[in-house]
Amino acid sequence: MSDVETCDVLVIGGGPAGSTAAALLASKGLDVVMVEKEAHPRFHIGESLLPKNLEIIDRLGLSEQVAAMGVFKPGAEFVDDDTGESVAFSFALSLGGGKKHAYQVRRSEFDAMLFTEAERRGARTLQRTRVTALEFDGGDGRARVTASTEDGGEKHFAPRFVLDASGRDTFLAAKLGRKESNKLNNTAAVYAHFRGVTPRDDEHEGYITVHLVDNGWFWTIPLPDGVMSVGFVGTQAAFKARHGTMEAFFDARLAASPTIRARMHRAERISDVVGTGNYSYRVSDSTGPNYLMIGDAFAFIDPVFSSGVLFAMTGGEMGANVAARWLENPAAGLAMARKSERSLLRGMNRISWLIYRINEPVLRAMFMAPRNTFRMRDGLIAMLAGNLEGDRNTRLPVLAFKATYYVMLALHRLAPKAVGQALRSPAPAE
Ligand SMILES: Cc1cc2nc3c(=O)[nH]c(=O)nc-3n(C[C@H](O)[C@H](O)[C@H](O)COP(=O)(O)OP(=O)(O)OC[C@H]3O[C@@H](n4cnc5c(N)ncnc54)[C@H](O)[C@@H]3O)c2cc1C
Repeated sequence: MSDVETCDVLVIGGGPAGSTAAALLASKGLDVVMVEKEAHPRFHIGESLLPKNLEIIDRLGLSEQVAAMGVFKPGAEFVDDDTGESVAFSFALSLGGGKKHAYQVRRSEFDAMLFTEAERRGARTLQRTRVTALEFDGGDGRARVTASTEDGGEKHFAPRFVLDASGRDTFLAAKLGRKESNKLNNTAAVYAHFRGVTPRDDEHEGYITVHLVDNGWFWTIPLPDGVMSVGFVGTQAAFKARHGTMEAFFDARLAASPTIRARMHRAERISDVVGTGNYSYRVSDSTGPNYLMIGDAFAFIDPVFSSGVLFAMTGGEMGANVAARWLENPAAGLAMARKSERSLLRGMNRISWLIYRINEPVLRAMFMAPRNTFRMRDGLIAMLAGNLEGDRNTRLPVLAFKATYYVMLALHRLAPKAVGQALRSPAPAE
């Protein structure tokens, strides 16, 4: 094995999932190689973090750096495009303990920080190097990984364990034919960075704003230096109506929304317009004899509640624990991998319930005039803050919210106008 480098764990991809895992594994004293096909800092979408995310960032010792690079995010605001009315969910009201704020970051900086942290802790890293092939068993209990470098060269590794953190490329799931697109969430996105977008009022400075429009929604995410990330996420019907280029489609959607248009008068686009389609998927099985898929390489649901980086870094933490356990005892590692997958899926299923209904009138109405009976609103905010474990603080309020939704949905089918009006009426003062 002269030109084959051995290591304990090889991590494919240096985004939030891969760098978190590599940093933690290196801290455990394991020999880790992380291979990234691009070079940091590189653009990435996914700029709005959640309070729960800060707990992982704290554990990595990076809170001060994130606070310095980010825009303080106190909560999430929703705007009804039909009426212009808005409602703000402050994380301060979230049920249970935990952080009551988050940050919005340029992912180029955030991801570079995590990658550097993994390196600082002793992970061996390669950039501009793409993993191109993997054999699970090289005959000596180690996998064989081939990677191609920018100058056309090849590198060969023999790791005992592989973590696939290749993001939407889903390197292993594609190889194994395990990627399943999500038929319940058939949406796509188009987005860009702007300067000069009118912020919401001072009271809601730093909030992510979600404008609920026909067949979809917009995000506006304030980033440092007066930059605003603006994106449209639409249903198939919205994207089927597209004629011409993605830029023209994006411009047309921006102009068609009265509440967005009002904020874009002086806006100047400072980046390319990027489109991402068919983005909701999961893999049928994330693990096998000596590998685990984490982050977007395992599943991605939807950007609406900004949960992607949280799931990626949670997967990074779980992946590091699984890999370390596996190296000691493969059977125990496999059991831990299965448990981690179930836990991640439970969290994803909880937030999916809301995601699948975000374009649905009854849920939208309940969002726009939130009732706090049985602490439903505050339980909902706990979910929006990333508390997806369904602990006992949030379980009952969320159950009450869902039960109310189903009752209202049934009534709405019988008497749409009256129920619509009742739902829109302001909640009684607490
Ligand atoms: C439109 C949209 C908006 C979003 N908005 C938000 C948001 O506001 N908040 C939020 O939390 N999440 C958001 N997300 C989700 C978020 O972007 C992802 O969930 C997150 O980046 C996943 O992290 P990751 O580390 O798993 O993957 P990535 O961040 O994609 O990192 C994977 C890395 O692997 C590298 N790679 C891929 N293949 C190979 C290979 N073969 N060899 C070597 N390297 C490879 C890539 O270059 C990349 O750097 C959004 C997603 C979309 C589509």
